[in-house]
Amino acid sequence: MDYSRDDIDGLLNDKFRDVAQAEGVYDGPNEDAKKFYNLVEEASQELYPGCTRFSKLSFTLSLYLLKCLHGWSNKSFTSLLELLKEAMPELNIPPSYNKTKSMVKNLDLDYEKIDACPNGCMLFRNDHKDDEFCHTCGALRYIKSPEADSELEPSKKQHRVLAKTLRHFPLIPRLKRLFMCSKTADSLRWHDEERSKDGKLRHPADGLAWKDFDRLHPDFALDCRNVRLGLSSDGFNPFRTMSISHSTWPVMLTVYNLPP
Ligand SMILES: [Zn+2]
Repeated sequence: MDYSRDDIDGLLNDKFRDVAQAEGVYDGPNEDAKKFYNLVEEASQELYPGCTRFSKLSFTLSLYLLKCLHGWSNKSFTSLLELLKEAMPELNIPPSYNKTKSMVKNLDLDYEKIDACPNGCMLFRNDHKDDEFCHTCGALRYIKSPEADSELEPSKKQHRVLAKTLRHFPLIPRLKRLFMCSKTADSLRWHDEERSKDGKLRHPADGLAWKDFDRLHPDFALDCRNVRLGLSSDGFNPFRTMSISHSTWPVMLTVYNLPP
């Protein structure tokens, strides 16, 4: 968990290398390039005059990581920032949780929230993004409040409680990032170029399912840079008490191209 200045510079380079290169060719910064320059600007700002250990960006990210790991509320995070600033006015940190979040968002570590049917039949998006009930089972999208919905003003409608939410971590930007970093880009070819092929089982690539897949999809198998993903899921109770019924079901994709 070491966010030194160099690590952050490396991260920025990995994320925005293509943008920085394209910048020499095109006129005027595009949206991604603007984010890049903002982040570079924040990464180069000292945390306080003379500080070499942390930049504004690396310190804010470290603090945000602690918030996520230990479940601090958004309000408590803002209070902590305010206290730090009051005690050490020269400290160069964002004033609130919201400002911190928009900083993190620029690193593309964000997720999308999609409303879902409480029984898991459908997602309320695209053509169905304004629908109020599930098209398969008829379940309501929002938890019913005592007052009738028609009595709510339009501004209050946005604050109704959702029955179920899907948090989606978009896959494509994450796959892109694997190819932006030269080390991981090399490792993605490991299963074909560096794995020892002596017939012993050590990696999914040694298994029959993998070979069977290659036989069925020769076009896909032809390029070893094509990414093979394993999908796994399990439910757990994020609040560590089994007595409440809330549970979370992460669905995780694992890249099988990589070395064990
Ligand atoms: Zn349903």
